[in-house]
Amino acid sequence: MWNGARDAASSQDVAAWRILVLCEISNFATLRRHLGRPRADSLGVDVADRILSLCEGTRIVSAGRALVEIAFERENPLVAAAEVDRLRKTFLRPVDIDGEPYQLQLHFGVAVAPAGDCDDVRLTEAAESALDQARGQGRVVMLDLSRADLAFDKLTLMRELPRAIAEGEMFLQYQPKVHVRRQQIASAEALVRWQHPVRGLILPGDFIAVAEEAGEIAALTLWTLRKVIVDQRVLAGEGRDLRLFINISGLLLADASFVAEACAIVRATDAKLGFEITETAVIRDPDSAIRHLQSFADIGVELAIDDYGAGLSSLAYLKQLPAKELKIDKMFVLQLTSSNRDPLIVRSTIDLAHALEMEVTAEGVETPSALALLSVMGCDMVQGFLISRPLGFDAFRKFVAEDGHLAPGGTGHSPFARPESIWKRA
Ligand code: C2E
Ligand code: MG
Ligand code: MG
Repeated sequence: MWNGARDAASSQDVAAWRILVLCEISNFATLRRHLGRPRADSLGVDVADRILSLCEGTRIVSAGRALVEIAFERENPLVAAAEVDRLRKTFLRPVDIDGEPYQLQLHFGVAVAPAGDCDDVRLTEAAESALDQARGQGRVVMLDLSRADLAFDKLTLMRELPRAIAEGEMFLQYQPKVHVRRQQIASAEALVRWQHPVRGLILPGDFIAVAEEAGEIAALTLWTLRKVIVDQRVLAGEGRDLRLFINISGLLLADASFVAEACAIVRATDAKLGFEITETAVIRDPDSAIRHLQSFADIGVELAIDDYGAGLSSLAYLKQLPAKELKIDKMFVLQLTSSNRDPLIVRSTIDLAHALEMEVTAEGVETPSALALLSVMGCDMVQGFLISRPLGFDAFRKFVAEDGHLAPGGTGHSPFARPESIWKRA
């Protein structure tokens, strides 16, 4: 993170609101054709520099090739809206790039929240959701997290879920996991989203628990499994036979009919699949969970333990699980280079997992310094915004194809030797 010309602290005194802006260069592909890849790869930095010079107290959280993430504080959302509009207008004029004028087309997704009343993850998710809507609507979209109508009404969502699953309102995004030593995309995780016709994009944090409560989680997961199988076959057909992981809710590990149906679907395909499960799920009903997990492992589904460390970790169960991969919760990874305690936890988790002959994935890798530290600690795989945000299937295919030399079996040069910006994707 680098700071604006003026110190953010001075504006924080009066600023009761946190603002996060995601600014995406939507005509990046066209610009890259004109400018060439090396120059285009630093366009995000040009945009970031310009914003820093225009907007007081701004901090650039990250600047990828086509996406810039900007944080600042203001006294109220109206002031923030005016500021973002000023930025938007500035970029309506061509930008000078190496002496030539170029028109940058930008999308702005903005999240605002009262300062003492929001966590970073929620603010980021809201800004992502706003950016998604901004792409579709062609205007700046601002979401105010303090508004009651943004807190989804559970009962309504519960009623709407079966229709949403049946009528194709759910869709998947994929986020790659990259093998640190081999410098290849190792696999990818499918993350479900709900494109609600009225409320816009809803992220899983707001509806998975609802789906569990409404008894819809089995239907949703079977839908996901079928979709992932189709997508995996497409990738394999393109020569990228990556294993795709889906998240399995703990409740389903105790549901014999779900397990039977999922096994039947998996047996009928040769798609490479994996399931991510949280250990708390196993602790609830260990005997049946372990039995069911074993039946998935027996038919070739690789198992990963998700969000390790976030719940009540139990070493006793860990040993009994037929899992090949342990994913360290992003809560420990996000603060890795700024906390004293988290590196110790991460380090010992990596050693423990290796002792149990599991590979370790760190999720929530957002910075090159976190990646460097994890690499030194012997972490096997990394997943996070530094490498890529979750992408729609077509964008994910492009990501895999562009980074073709990263795919299994590829040769090529080291991605870690490339500039940081190349690892950042919109
Ligand atoms: P998870 O399985 O731990 O997934 C990782 C979450 O971290 C995703 O949020 C992802 O977008 C986010 N993430 C990835 N990289 C970074 C990063 O560098 N920084 C930060 N701050 N966040 C990062 P998402 O997609 O909102 O999913 C949240 C959770 O919802 C998932 O956590 C998973 O537990 C659940 N979920 C998602 N899809 C499904 C599904 O199909 N079925 C079930 N049962 N649960 C799902
Ligand atoms: Mg997961
Ligand atoms: Mg996780």
